[in-house]
Amino acid sequence: STYIDELRAHGRLSHQQWLVLLIAAQNNPAFAEEIRVCAHAIRERYFGRTVYIRGLIELSNYCRNDCFYCGIRKSNGEVSRYRLSLDEILGCCQVGYDLGFRTFVLQGGEDAWFNDDRLAELVAAIRTHHPDSAITLSLGERSRESYERLFAAGANRYLLRHEAVNTELYASLHPARQRLATRLDCLRNLQAIGFQTGAGFMVGAPGQTLAHIAEDMVFLGDFRPAMVGIGPFIPQHATRYAHEPAGSVDLTLILLSLIRIMLPNVLLPATTALGTMDPQGHAKGMRAGANVVMPNLSPADVRGKYLLYDNKMSFGSEAAEGLDTLRQRMAAAGYEVVVARGDQPPLQI
Ligand code: SAM
Repeated sequence: STYIDELRAHGRLSHQQWLVLLIAAQNNPAFAEEIRVCAHAIRERYFGRTVYIRGLIELSNYCRNDCFYCGIRKSNGEVSRYRLSLDEILGCCQVGYDLGFRTFVLQGGEDAWFNDDRLAELVAAIRTHHPDSAITLSLGERSRESYERLFAAGANRYLLRHEAVNTELYASLHPARQRLATRLDCLRNLQAIGFQTGAGFMVGAPGQTLAHIAEDMVFLGDFRPAMVGIGPFIPQHATRYAHEPAGSVDLTLILLSLIRIMLPNVLLPATTALGTMDPQGHAKGMRAGANVVMPNLSPADVRGKYLLYDNKMSFGSEAAEGLDTLRQRMAAAGYEVVVARGDQPPLQI
């Protein structure tokens, strides 16, 4: 298709072109397959058949924010709150290192206990213990000075999904005090500081249309993140969206492919949400152009408390200790889990 050719050649499309492309891909399985094959060829060129793994440590489920879709939102009184100590987090990293992880992702709610002093100390300690590993943070919105300090302490990457670049949609998913402009400022600061920066959004978020997704794709084409996190929205029973339908696995796969074509060297995970919605999610994600899986490396006893959505997977092939299962599944699908930092490779011409 001419739009696919244009996307490959220029790395971006207009909103109208995206909308036409998304509608066509969603309504025509043969076209969706053509997109997938194109994306997979690019994946192979940059990453071969390798799969990068990241050990995901969910360090706190305390959160000052109140995102309407999220299970650990501040006003959800059902949540049993926890936070890991510095020693526990270092222990997780050691377990992960011994299993073959060379990237640790520290993710959590926006928990004030993790102030700059504590986080800088934590990042520096991981950096000292594991000098050959990458440190990824996913701790929400912080000041530019805070991001600078964490980068100086040794963090390399930062995941902050933009969630929705459309002002009205963003406002419908978040309380008024959480501003899209702040989130976008954070993303620009992270990129300017030198983090490999990740943006992204939920597929099928309540109220989201294909026109909104087209806006998100325009944004990703302009921002050119090093990483993109997308996964289906999944309802959580204690939120206002408890009875909303989950996002589509097929549309998520189409978007993974289109993101791979637009951003050829992007680090692109098959997310836990995709794995939760479909037992073949990881393999389908790789076939669509994804190249990263993030198994859960949190202590087993807290995993059941980091429930962003119902039935969230955190064991088996979604768990660090289940890495052999993941290895076998990936091998069965023709992919190889590798022990590597897995930084973003340079763009090829
Ligand atoms: N607090 C940090 C932040 O906001 O970036 C990191 C943790 S936050 C829980 C990680 C991501 O979970 C969010 O960016 C959001 O897209 C995703 N998420 C939250 N609720 C979800 C749901 N119900 N279904 C799918 N994904 C969800």
